[in-house]
Amino acid sequence: MVTKRKLNKTGKITLTVIIIIMMGLPMIFFLTRKHMKNEIHILKMTENYQIKIDYPFTRQKKLDTKIEEYIELEKEKFLNTVELKIPAGDNPKYELVIGYQIQKQQDSNKNSHYHIHFETFSYMGENQYIRGDKTFHYDSKNKKFLSIRDYLEESSSIERLSILSYYYMMQYIELNELELNEDLIKQVVAVDSDNYEHFSFKNEGLELLFPLYKISAEHEEVIKIVIPIKEINELLKKQYRISENDEKKEEIIPEQRDISQYKNKKLIAFTFDDGPSMTTTNHLLDGLKQYDAKVTFFVLGNRVEANQEVLKRAYKEGHEIGSHTYNHRNLLLLNNYARIQEIKETNQVIEDVIGVKPTLLRPPYGNINEETKKISNMHIIEWGVDTLDWKTKDKELIAKEIVENASDGAIILLHDIYQPSVEGALLAMETLEKEGYAFVTISEMAKLKNVTLDYTTLYRHFN
Ligand code: ZN
Repeated sequence: MVTKRKLNKTGKITLTVIIIIMMGLPMIFFLTRKHMKNEIHILKMTENYQIKIDYPFTRQKKLDTKIEEYIELEKEKFLNTVELKIPAGDNPKYELVIGYQIQKQQDSNKNSHYHIHFETFSYMGENQYIRGDKTFHYDSKNKKFLSIRDYLEESSSIERLSILSYYYMMQYIELNELELNEDLIKQVVAVDSDNYEHFSFKNEGLELLFPLYKISAEHEEVIKIVIPIKEINELLKKQYRISENDEKKEEIIPEQRDISQYKNKKLIAFTFDDGPSMTTTNHLLDGLKQYDAKVTFFVLGNRVEANQEVLKRAYKEGHEIGSHTYNHRNLLLLNNYARIQEIKETNQVIEDVIGVKPTLLRPPYGNINEETKKISNMHIIEWGVDTLDWKTKDKELIAKEIVENASDGAIILLHDIYQPSVEGALLAMETLEKEGYAFVTISEMAKLKNVTLDYTTLYRHFN
């Protein structure tokens, strides 16, 4: 009897363990799979229009729902308007670009807050893009959306914030010699939570963004100011105060390699646009080591801050960092001021992270004209092999496309925000390595081919 009962007990335990494992395995698999996805990319190109949307997936149900609603609404608005328009024909295509910046931070109670800012640009065939801004502030512990008033100590603090904002706006205007009248500024900074929708916490203080287009149709620009820590902390609730950060930025020294070893090899420059991404770019970097491959990344300015760790890693491991502009707009459709902004801001954020300004520019869609070339004063790198990876999203097809079109001096276009592109590139390298190819950055390629890059050529291939 005793033995039997013991066996039964053991049996029960074993059975329970087996059941737990059987239920747990798919669960773990599901969770890791899910864990990989932290953003969503939509790219669609038709004869008539193009849509490029990036948005985050935070796994905060309430927040994700709101974000998806916002994206859906913008998409619908755009498509409905396009439907009413005459086909673009030979004119530039209608366009919708949505990019975002995300900040996740903890307050002093270890409570996480998300600040997500969307910039939306739609081109409807008039002479310029129409801009839209939207920011979500979300407290993930209390599952609540917050506004600036929730962060401020007292109800009167917003009046103080308005006065400070006015002061720093005027200072900004003077510094940049902008012609804006004072009344407009007063309206923009007036005491009203809606005016303070776009804020985020920076090391230097509270950053505020004021879209002037909301107040005056004449002005399409937005102005960003920072209220310094000393002044803003007095207004913030204790748990949200910004701590002084006097950490010194460490200098990144990139890996060097002797490229003379590739002199007699066939060379290929793999290039990756639209990133970086904390998930897929990291996978790529892991894989490249196996093939002694260095590649070139053309990164988007608006993604740099949130993905700076992987950008630092790429640079440190000897890959080249170039610019793909800030918001991925068609440069041909912008006025010179906006073009300069797209290029300058990107160079600045890249320099802030890796310590050097990029010298290579890949314009979105490859679109550039003489004037923009002059403005940029960068080397313009196009491509010779378009893998259409964003469309097929199939690693085998992408690898096949690369291998079939490979030649000495080729520049391959890929996008490191898609996992199949990353896997396809690595698969292709496996084959091409056996065929005697070496994988180099654009600058390495230029050196090995004895080409001095200039500011007028559009580089599609190196002979
Ligand atoms: Zn692109």
